[in-house]
Amino acid sequence: MKKLSISERLGLVNYRNQGRTEAIAHIDVDTSICDGMCPHQCTTFICPAKCYTVDEYDRVQFQFEDCIECGACLYACDQGAVTWRYPDPESGRGINWSQG
Ligand code: SF4
Ligand code: SF4
Repeated sequence: MKKLSISERLGLVNYRNQGRTEAIAHIDVDTSICDGMCPHQCTTFICPAKCYTVDEYDRVQFQFEDCIECGACLYACDQGAVTWRYPDPESGRGINWSQG
């Protein structure tokens, strides 16, 4: 069996809410903290799905749609900017781990 790279594995992640217009964010990020007082912006480096990025104005941007629910940002952010809750699979949210 071929050994897959991280990006190849991420490409296999199957999102339950893919294509849904009523997708609900399971992570909230207070980007005023990111931009105003965060000394390291570490989540822009550690998120494997690149959900945290820095734009051309050096502002942190966050999008939840590609999140693979690894939980790393919840523990990495020491500034109190991240609110994290598991998506409710019963309502068709979150990802299917069996293909990832
Ligand atoms: S570590 Fe926390 S405060 Fe800093 S950029 Fe990431 S989410 Fe924002
Ligand atoms: S839970 Fe993991 S994949 Fe999702 S936004 Fe946080 S670090 Fe990125």
